[in-house]
Amino acid sequence: MTYKNHAEKLALIRDGKLSLKENVSVFLQRIDQNKNLNAFNFVFEDSPAQAELIETKIKNGSAGKLAGMVVAVKDVLALKDKPLTCSSNILKDFNSLYTATAVQKLIDEDAIIIGKTNCDEFAMGSSNENSAFGVVLNPINHSRVPGGSSGGSAVAVAANLCDVSLGTDTGGSIRQPASFCGIYGLKPTYGRVSRYGLTAFASSFDTIGPFAKSIDDISLVLSVMSGHDEKDSTSQDIDVPDFSTELKQTKKFKIGLPKEYFAEGLNDEIKDLIMVQVGKLQSQGHEIIEIDLPHTEYSIATYYILTTAEASSNLARFDGARYGYRSTISGDLQSMYTNSRSDGFGAEVKRRIMLGTYVLSAGYYDAYYRKAQKVRRLLKQDFDKAFEKVDVILTPTSPFAAFKIGEKSDDPLQMYLSDIYTTSANLAGIPGINVPIGNNKEGLPIGMQLMADQFEELKLLRLGRII
Ligand code: GLN
Repeated sequence: MTYKNHAEKLALIRDGKLSLKENVSVFLQRIDQNKNLNAFNFVFEDSPAQAELIETKIKNGSAGKLAGMVVAVKDVLALKDKPLTCSSNILKDFNSLYTATAVQKLIDEDAIIIGKTNCDEFAMGSSNENSAFGVVLNPINHSRVPGGSSGGSAVAVAANLCDVSLGTDTGGSIRQPASFCGIYGLKPTYGRVSRYGLTAFASSFDTIGPFAKSIDDISLVLSVMSGHDEKDSTSQDIDVPDFSTELKQTKKFKIGLPKEYFAEGLNDEIKDLIMVQVGKLQSQGHEIIEIDLPHTEYSIATYYILTTAEASSNLARFDGARYGYRSTISGDLQSMYTNSRSDGFGAEVKRRIMLGTYVLSAGYYDAYYRKAQKVRRLLKQDFDKAFEKVDVILTPTSPFAAFKIGEKSDDPLQMYLSDIYTTSANLAGIPGINVPIGNNKEGLPIGMQLMADQFEELKLLRLGRII
């Protein structure tokens, strides 16, 4: 039984045309048949029992807004009494003591959590190759990466292993894998969704958002997840629109095309596919305006200075004493810390801890960290100026389609360049969405990014729906 969004699914269940218990069992079977994709770190086999309870609630009219929606959650988000590994050996065998607010809000509306998805270790990566659970395969072409760091979450939706999934986006980790897998993925405004229960990578950049096959489901889940939480002081006390109902309004948009995002380095086929969409929008009466975001060329450097600095501090807590893995090599306390961290963390995480420690160290702090903070402000000002003229900014999501497994893993700089169009939104704290727009000649999905000003997700959803 197929359905195109959650509203249709609910109607089928209500009319007795779809059994929720069977639906969940089918997802579990598919997860099992697609084990080679390696999308899940943990699967919750007790989900069908939960489905039965929720099905009863649906039939007697007491069910929540997400009743029966089958959701997979990135393994950096806490779910009480379930493993929380961040795809790292250092958190092997660690179970969470509480549930992340964003996940709890979905559960409170009767969503069913089916499992925890694979990702790059501590969400550091663009290909899902940096995972202690192994590489995740792109379901469209198994020799390609799914993108990262939320690769497992993107694959779980793209390969029909769940209805919706949650990912996190610090520099592109929702939007880029969504584009590589041909689905929608939304990074909310920083402060829209509580980060309580999200294992911190770079606290002033991290956001939680949904992946789905429809704008309707993205909107529904975003409405439920959003809002102030007293457990996260950076979550904003600001009205949350009912995205699902307000979505349907149509208006003409002023759409900005930043010339820096269409310059050298962008694959021609991607550029052409985006221009077809731009042409269509123009013929529908939307206004296309060329804009400048002059500090764009500094975004990658700024992002990698600030996020590694924050990561080096956040990851200091994993010392072998409190969480998960502890080295068994005997020695004094200092060597217990050192050995636990040396064995427990993977190569990319160690690289970032070292980079971050370096940019924060006395003598280098002013040259790197402080300067990068200043550039962050300039990047934000670029966006402020742009949003005086336009409603939405339209760009590629990634300069290339899904690359081959192993193609960039030996060259961190090439890997970091995957994020060239996505890190700016995190530096500025603004929302962004990937909208799938077709395939290239090799059959690989291509995505387009829309960005709006802070707390203007509705514009992204409305324009995404029009597209
Ligand atoms: N790929 C980027 C990085 O490696 C973004 C990661 C993310 O958004 N979590 O840092």
